[in-house]
Amino acid sequence: MNKTVGIYVHIPFCLRKCFYCDFCSTAADAQTQTAYVDALCQEIDEAAPCARLVDTLFIGGGTPSILPPRAIESVLNALSRKYSFAEGCEVTIEANPATVTEEKAAAYRTLGITRVSIGAQSLCDRELSALGRLHTARDVYECVEIFRRTGHHNLNLDLMYGIPFQTLASFRQTLAAVEALAPEHFSAYALILEEGTALFAQRDKLLFPRADEERAMYDEACSFAARTGYRHYEISNYAKAGFESRHNLRYWKKEDYLAFGLAAHATFDSVRYAHTEKLSEYLAGARAPRACEFLSEQEEDCERVMLGLRTADGIPEALLLKVAGEEKSSFLARCEKEGYFSKKEGRLFLTEDGMYVSNAILCELLPSSFS
Ligand code: SF4
Repeated sequence: MNKTVGIYVHIPFCLRKCFYCDFCSTAADAQTQTAYVDALCQEIDEAAPCARLVDTLFIGGGTPSILPPRAIESVLNALSRKYSFAEGCEVTIEANPATVTEEKAAAYRTLGITRVSIGAQSLCDRELSALGRLHTARDVYECVEIFRRTGHHNLNLDLMYGIPFQTLASFRQTLAAVEALAPEHFSAYALILEEGTALFAQRDKLLFPRADEERAMYDEACSFAARTGYRHYEISNYAKAGFESRHNLRYWKKEDYLAFGLAAHATFDSVRYAHTEKLSEYLAGARAPRACEFLSEQEEDCERVMLGLRTADGIPEALLLKVAGEEKSSFLARCEKEGYFSKKEGRLFLTEDGMYVSNAILCELLPSSFS
Protein backbone atom coordinates (compact mmCIF):
# COMPACT_ATOMS: atom_id res chain seq x y z
CA MET A 1 0.00 0.00 0.00
CA ASN A 2 1.31 3.45 -0.88
CA LYS A 3 1.99 5.55 2.17
CA THR A 4 0.23 8.87 2.49
CA VAL A 5 1.14 11.86 4.61
CA GLY A 6 -0.68 14.53 6.63
CA ILE A 7 0.12 18.22 6.94
CA TYR A 8 -0.30 20.51 9.94
CA VAL A 9 -0.17 24.29 9.47
CA HIS A 10 0.07 26.58 12.51
CA ILE A 11 -1.52 30.04 12.64
CA PRO A 12 -0.29 31.55 15.91
CA PHE A 13 -2.66 34.50 16.26
CA CYS A 14 -5.66 35.06 18.54
CA LEU A 15 -7.80 38.06 19.41
CA ARG A 16 -6.57 37.76 22.98
CA LYS A 17 -4.94 35.09 25.11
CA CYS A 18 -7.48 32.88 26.91
CA PHE A 19 -6.70 32.58 30.63
CA TYR A 20 -5.86 28.86 30.51
CA CYS A 21 -3.92 28.80 27.27
CA ASP A 22 -0.27 27.83 26.98
CA PHE A 23 -0.33 27.16 23.22
CA CYS A 24 1.96 29.10 20.93
CA SER A 25 -0.43 31.97 20.19
CA THR A 26 -0.48 35.73 20.57
CA ALA A 27 -2.47 38.80 19.64
CA ALA A 28 -0.92 40.66 16.71
CA ASP A 29 -1.78 43.50 14.32
CA ALA A 30 -2.87 42.92 10.72
CA GLN A 31 0.58 43.85 9.39
CA THR A 32 2.29 41.15 11.49
CA GLN A 33 -0.33 38.62 10.41
CA THR A 34 0.27 39.44 6.75
CA ALA A 35 4.05 39.18 7.21
CA TYR A 36 3.55 35.79 8.88
CA VAL A 37 1.38 34.41 6.09
CA ASP A 38 4.00 35.55 3.55
CA ALA A 39 6.73 33.84 5.57
CA LEU A 40 4.61 30.69 5.89
CA CYS A 41 4.04 30.53 2.12
CA GLN A 42 7.75 31.03 1.59
CA GLU A 43 8.52 28.19 3.99
CA ILE A 44 6.17 25.93 2.03
CA ASP A 45 7.71 27.03 -1.29
CA GLU A 46 11.20 26.24 -0.01
CA ALA A 47 10.33 22.88 1.60
CA ALA A 48 11.68 19.62 0.22
CA PRO A 49 9.22 17.88 -2.08
CA CYS A 50 7.44 14.75 -0.85
CA ALA A 51 6.35 11.98 -3.19
CA ARG A 52 3.48 10.87 -0.96
CA LEU A 53 -0.10 11.94 -1.47
CA VAL A 54 -1.46 14.24 1.22
CA ASP A 55 -4.71 12.87 2.62
CA THR A 56 -5.24 15.06 5.69
CA LEU A 57 -4.53 18.74 6.23
CA PHE A 58 -5.15 20.53 9.51
CA ILE A 59 -4.96 24.31 9.82
CA GLY A 60 -4.74 24.92 13.55
CA GLY A 61 -3.62 27.50 16.02
CA GLY A 62 -4.06 29.88 17.59
CA THR A 63 -7.12 31.01 15.74
CA PRO A 64 -6.85 30.41 11.98
CA SER A 65 -10.31 31.96 11.52
CA ILE A 66 -8.85 35.31 12.59
CA LEU A 67 -7.26 35.58 9.12
CA PRO A 68 -9.09 36.93 6.09
CA PRO A 69 -10.07 34.16 3.63
CA ARG A 70 -7.54 35.40 1.06
CA ALA A 71 -4.74 34.60 3.54
CA ILE A 72 -6.03 31.03 3.95
CA GLU A 73 -6.27 30.85 0.17
CA SER A 74 -2.59 31.85 -0.20
CA VAL A 75 -1.54 29.10 2.19
CA LEU A 76 -3.67 26.49 0.38
CA ASN A 77 -2.30 27.64 -2.98
CA ALA A 78 1.28 27.36 -1.73
CA LEU A 79 0.55 23.83 -0.49
CA SER A 80 -1.06 22.81 -3.79
CA ARG A 81 1.95 24.08 -5.74
CA LYS A 82 4.20 21.83 -3.68
CA TYR A 83 2.18 18.69 -2.90
CA SER A 84 -0.34 16.37 -4.50
CA PHE A 85 -3.56 15.97 -2.57
CA ALA A 86 -5.52 12.73 -2.51
CA GLU A 87 -9.09 12.84 -3.66
CA GLY A 88 -11.33 13.22 -0.62
CA CYS A 89 -8.50 14.75 1.42
CA GLU A 90 -9.80 15.87 4.83
CA VAL A 91 -9.11 19.59 5.21
CA THR A 92 -9.82 20.95 8.69
CA ILE A 93 -9.68 24.51 9.95
CA GLU A 94 -10.04 25.61 13.56
CA ALA A 95 -12.49 28.43 14.17
CA ASN A 96 -13.20 30.59 17.19
CA PRO A 97 -16.86 31.71 17.38
CA ALA A 98 -15.72 35.28 18.10
CA THR A 99 -14.13 35.53 14.65
CA VAL A 100 -16.53 33.69 12.34
CA THR A 101 -18.52 35.54 9.68
CA GLU A 102 -20.78 34.34 6.90
CA GLU A 103 -18.22 35.53 4.36
CA LYS A 104 -15.42 33.48 5.93
CA ALA A 105 -17.59 30.37 6.29
CA ALA A 106 -18.70 30.57 2.64
CA ALA A 107 -15.11 31.12 1.51
CA TYR A 108 -13.98 28.01 3.39
CA ARG A 109 -16.41 25.94 1.33
CA THR A 110 -15.15 27.46 -1.90
CA LEU A 111 -11.55 26.84 -0.84
CA GLY A 112 -12.22 23.13 -0.30
CA ILE A 113 -12.23 23.04 3.49
CA THR A 114 -14.18 19.93 4.44
CA ARG A 115 -14.24 20.10 8.24
CA VAL A 116 -14.47 22.90 10.79
CA SER A 117 -13.42 22.50 14.39
CA ILE A 118 -15.14 25.11 16.54
CA GLY A 119 -13.62 26.08 19.89
CA ALA A 120 -16.79 26.28 21.98
CA GLN A 121 -15.39 25.01 25.31
CA SER A 122 -18.70 25.54 27.14
CA LEU A 123 -22.23 26.71 26.45
CA CYS A 124 -22.46 28.57 29.77
CA ASP A 125 -21.50 32.23 29.76
CA ARG A 126 -20.16 32.27 33.31
CA GLU A 127 -17.72 29.46 32.47
CA LEU A 128 -16.70 31.10 29.20
CA SER A 129 -15.82 34.31 30.98
CA ALA A 130 -13.89 32.38 33.68
CA LEU A 131 -11.83 30.88 30.85
CA GLY A 132 -11.23 34.32 29.30
CA ARG A 133 -13.01 33.37 26.08
CA LEU A 134 -14.14 36.32 24.00
CA HIS A 135 -17.41 34.75 22.88
CA THR A 136 -20.70 33.86 24.51
CA ALA A 137 -22.81 30.73 24.30
CA ARG A 138 -25.08 32.62 21.87
CA ASP A 139 -22.06 33.17 19.59
CA VAL A 140 -21.49 29.41 19.49
CA TYR A 141 -25.09 28.83 18.38
CA GLU A 142 -24.75 31.52 15.71
CA CYS A 143 -21.41 30.18 14.56
CA VAL A 144 -22.86 26.68 14.02
CA GLU A 145 -25.86 28.20 12.19
CA ILE A 146 -23.52 30.16 9.90
CA PHE A 147 -21.51 27.07 9.03
CA ARG A 148 -24.67 25.05 8.38
CA ARG A 149 -26.15 27.82 6.22
CA THR A 150 -23.00 27.95 4.14
CA GLY A 151 -23.08 24.21 3.49
CA HIS A 152 -20.63 22.71 6.00
CA HIS A 153 -21.51 19.12 6.89
CA ASN A 154 -18.64 18.12 9.13
CA LEU A 155 -18.41 20.19 12.30
CA ASN A 156 -16.61 19.53 15.56
CA LEU A 157 -17.32 21.30 18.84
CA ASP A 158 -14.47 21.41 21.35
CA LEU A 159 -15.64 21.31 24.96
CA MET A 160 -13.92 21.36 28.33
CA TYR A 161 -14.75 20.07 31.77
CA GLY A 162 -13.16 21.00 35.08
CA ILE A 163 -13.79 24.70 34.37
CA PRO A 164 -14.07 27.14 37.33
CA PHE A 165 -17.68 27.35 38.56
CA GLN A 166 -18.71 24.37 36.40
CA THR A 167 -21.05 21.86 38.01
CA LEU A 168 -22.39 18.55 36.79
CA ALA A 169 -25.70 20.33 36.15
CA SER A 170 -24.07 23.07 34.04
CA PHE A 171 -22.05 20.48 32.10
CA ARG A 172 -25.32 18.65 31.38
CA GLN A 173 -26.68 21.96 30.08
CA THR A 174 -23.69 22.23 27.73
CA LEU A 175 -24.26 18.67 26.52
CA ALA A 176 -27.96 19.41 25.97
CA ALA A 177 -26.87 22.33 23.76
CA VAL A 178 -24.55 19.99 21.88
CA GLU A 179 -27.48 17.66 21.29
CA ALA A 180 -29.51 20.57 19.89
CA LEU A 181 -26.65 21.75 17.66
CA ALA A 182 -25.94 18.19 16.50
CA PRO A 183 -22.31 18.51 15.38
CA GLU A 184 -20.90 15.43 13.66
CA HIS A 185 -18.11 15.30 16.25
CA PHE A 186 -17.36 16.69 19.68
CA SER A 187 -14.42 16.52 22.01
CA ALA A 188 -14.38 16.98 25.77
CA TYR A 189 -11.00 17.69 27.33
CA ALA A 190 -10.25 18.01 31.03
CA LEU A 191 -8.98 21.51 31.76
CA ILE A 192 -5.32 21.38 32.67
CA LEU A 193 -3.96 24.18 34.84
CA GLU A 194 -0.70 25.06 33.12
CA GLU A 195 1.92 26.99 35.06
CA GLY A 196 2.49 30.47 33.68
CA THR A 197 -1.12 31.00 32.57
CA ALA A 198 -3.44 33.66 33.99
CA LEU A 199 -5.73 30.92 35.30
CA PHE A 200 -2.85 29.31 37.18
CA ALA A 201 -2.05 32.63 38.86
CA GLN A 202 -5.71 32.98 39.92
CA ARG A 203 -6.17 29.36 40.99
CA ASP A 204 -6.61 30.04 44.70
CA LYS A 205 -9.36 32.58 44.10
CA LEU A 206 -11.51 30.39 41.85
CA LEU A 207 -13.84 27.55 42.65
CA PHE A 208 -12.88 24.49 40.59
CA PRO A 209 -14.92 21.29 40.45
CA ARG A 210 -13.60 18.57 42.77
CA ALA A 211 -11.92 15.48 41.29
CA ASP A 212 -15.05 13.35 41.84
CA GLU A 213 -17.18 16.00 40.11
CA GLU A 214 -14.77 16.05 37.15
CA ARG A 215 -15.01 12.29 36.97
CA ALA A 216 -18.81 12.54 36.96
CA MET A 217 -18.55 14.96 34.02
CA TYR A 218 -16.39 12.52 32.07
CA ASP A 219 -18.95 9.76 32.79
CA GLU A 220 -21.71 12.11 31.70
CA ALA A 221 -19.96 12.81 28.39
CA CYS A 222 -19.57 9.05 27.81
CA SER A 223 -23.21 8.26 28.54
CA PHE A 224 -24.43 11.29 26.57
CA ALA A 225 -22.38 10.06 23.58
CA ALA A 226 -23.76 6.52 23.84
CA ARG A 227 -27.32 7.80 24.11
CA THR A 228 -27.07 10.21 21.18
CA GLY A 229 -25.16 8.05 18.71
CA TYR A 230 -21.57 9.23 19.02
CA ARG A 231 -18.77 6.69 19.21
CA HIS A 232 -16.21 7.34 21.94
CA TYR A 233 -13.24 6.59 19.70
CA GLU A 234 -10.46 8.31 21.65
CA ILE A 235 -10.10 9.35 25.30
CA SER A 236 -11.46 12.86 24.63
CA ASN A 237 -13.14 12.47 21.23
CA TYR A 238 -16.60 11.36 20.10
CA ALA A 239 -17.89 11.04 16.54
CA LYS A 240 -20.94 10.04 14.55
CA ALA A 241 -20.16 7.05 12.30
CA GLY A 242 -17.67 8.05 9.61
CA PHE A 243 -16.86 11.46 11.12
CA GLU A 244 -13.80 10.57 13.18
CA SER A 245 -11.01 13.11 12.71
CA ARG A 246 -8.76 11.39 10.19
CA HIS A 247 -5.96 13.86 10.85
CA ASN A 248 -5.97 13.25 14.61
CA LEU A 249 -6.20 9.49 14.06
CA ARG A 250 -2.98 9.89 12.10
CA TYR A 251 -1.28 11.20 15.26
CA TRP A 252 -2.65 8.40 17.42
CA LYS A 253 -1.66 5.75 14.89
CA LYS A 254 1.81 7.29 14.66
CA GLU A 255 1.59 7.97 10.96
CA ASP A 256 3.83 10.57 9.35
CA TYR A 257 2.92 14.21 8.99
CA LEU A 258 4.69 17.33 7.80
CA ALA A 259 4.26 20.65 9.56
CA PHE A 260 4.62 24.32 8.68
CA GLY A 261 4.65 27.47 10.74
CA LEU A 262 5.77 28.75 14.10
CA ALA A 263 6.31 26.08 16.78
CA ALA A 264 4.87 23.37 14.52
CA HIS A 265 6.19 19.83 15.02
CA ALA A 266 6.40 17.12 12.37
CA THR A 267 7.23 13.43 12.38
CA PHE A 268 8.53 11.77 9.25
CA ASP A 269 10.34 8.42 8.89
CA SER A 270 11.00 8.15 12.65
CA VAL A 271 12.53 11.63 12.88
CA ARG A 272 10.85 14.44 14.76
CA TYR A 273 11.21 18.01 13.52
CA ALA A 274 10.48 21.29 15.31
CA HIS A 275 10.19 24.91 14.26
CA THR A 276 11.34 27.89 16.24
CA GLU A 277 8.81 29.17 18.78
CA LYS A 278 9.97 32.77 18.41
CA LEU A 279 7.85 34.81 16.03
CA SER A 280 10.65 37.36 15.46
CA GLU A 281 13.04 34.56 14.41
CA TYR A 282 10.46 33.00 12.13
CA LEU A 283 9.71 36.30 10.43
CA ALA A 284 13.44 37.03 10.11
CA GLY A 285 13.91 33.83 8.09
CA ALA A 286 14.64 31.03 10.60
CA ARG A 287 11.80 28.98 9.18
CA ALA A 288 13.16 25.57 8.27
CA PRO A 289 12.29 22.91 10.87
CA ARG A 290 15.20 21.29 12.70
CA ALA A 291 15.50 17.56 13.22
CA CYS A 292 15.32 17.35 17.00
CA GLU A 293 14.80 13.69 17.81
CA PHE A 294 15.65 10.39 16.16
CA LEU A 295 13.44 7.66 17.51
CA SER A 296 14.88 4.22 18.21
CA GLU A 297 12.79 1.11 17.59
CA GLN A 298 12.05 0.87 21.33
CA GLU A 299 11.00 4.52 21.48
CA GLU A 300 8.76 4.02 18.46
CA ASP A 301 7.10 1.02 20.12
CA CYS A 302 6.57 2.90 23.40
CA GLU A 303 4.94 5.76 21.53
CA ARG A 304 2.78 3.32 19.61
CA VAL A 305 1.53 1.91 22.91
CA MET A 306 1.03 5.32 24.50
CA LEU A 307 -0.86 6.77 21.55
CA GLY A 308 -2.67 3.61 20.45
CA LEU A 309 -4.10 3.06 23.92
CA ARG A 310 -5.80 6.45 23.67
CA THR A 311 -8.06 5.01 20.99
CA ALA A 312 -10.99 2.64 21.22
CA ASP A 313 -9.21 0.30 18.77
CA GLY A 314 -6.29 -0.16 21.17
CA ILE A 315 -3.09 -1.99 20.28
CA PRO A 316 -1.92 -5.55 19.66
CA GLU A 317 -1.45 -7.28 23.02
CA ALA A 318 1.89 -8.65 21.80
CA LEU A 319 3.18 -5.11 21.30
CA LEU A 320 2.26 -4.12 24.83
CA LEU A 321 3.98 -7.19 26.27
CA LYS A 322 7.06 -6.47 24.14
CA VAL A 323 7.25 -2.92 25.49
CA ALA A 324 6.20 -3.52 29.08
CA GLY A 325 7.88 -6.93 29.53
CA GLU A 326 6.29 -10.29 30.36
CA GLU A 327 6.59 -9.44 34.07
CA LYS A 328 3.74 -6.96 33.65
CA SER A 329 1.31 -9.63 32.52
CA SER A 330 -0.09 -10.07 36.06
CA PHE A 331 -0.65 -6.31 36.32
CA LEU A 332 -2.46 -6.46 32.97
CA ALA A 333 -4.59 -9.39 34.13
CA ARG A 334 -5.52 -7.41 37.25
CA CYS A 335 -6.46 -4.35 35.17
CA GLU A 336 -8.59 -6.57 32.97
CA LYS A 337 -10.31 -8.14 35.99
CA GLU A 338 -11.03 -4.71 37.44
CA GLY A 339 -12.55 -3.58 34.16
CA TYR A 340 -9.86 -1.19 32.90
CA PHE A 341 -8.79 -3.26 29.89
CA SER A 342 -10.65 -5.43 27.39
CA LYS A 343 -9.30 -7.87 24.84
CA LYS A 344 -10.62 -8.76 21.43
CA GLU A 345 -8.95 -10.70 18.63
CA GLY A 346 -5.47 -10.22 20.01
CA ARG A 347 -5.95 -6.51 20.62
CA LEU A 348 -6.00 -4.82 23.97
CA PHE A 349 -7.94 -1.65 24.58
CA LEU A 350 -8.88 0.55 27.49
CA THR A 351 -12.50 0.60 28.60
CA GLU A 352 -14.11 3.97 29.41
CA ASP A 353 -13.06 3.47 33.05
CA GLY A 354 -9.56 2.61 31.89
CA MET A 355 -9.33 5.64 29.61
CA TYR A 356 -10.02 7.93 32.56
CA VAL A 357 -7.04 6.55 34.49
CA SER A 358 -4.85 5.86 31.45
CA ASN A 359 -1.97 8.01 32.72
CA ALA A 360 -1.66 5.97 35.89
CA ILE A 361 -1.84 2.70 33.91
CA LEU A 362 0.79 3.84 31.42
CA CYS A 363 3.08 4.92 34.28
CA GLU A 364 3.01 1.34 35.49
CA LEU A 365 3.59 -0.18 32.05
CA LEU A 366 6.10 2.00 30.26
CA PRO A 367 9.74 2.79 31.04
CA SER A 368 9.81 5.87 33.30
CA SER A 369 11.23 8.13 30.56
CA PHE A 370 7.98 7.65 28.60
CA SER A 371 5.19 7.79 31.10
S1 SF4 B 1 -8.35 30.81 21.20
FE1 SF4 B 1 -7.28 28.87 21.57
S2 SF4 B 1 -5.14 29.21 21.00
FE2 SF4 B 1 -6.15 31.23 21.18
S3 SF4 B 1 -5.66 31.91 23.23
FE3 SF4 B 1 -7.66 30.88 23.33
S4 SF4 B 1 -7.18 28.71 23.80
FE4 SF4 B 1 -5.28 29.71 23.15
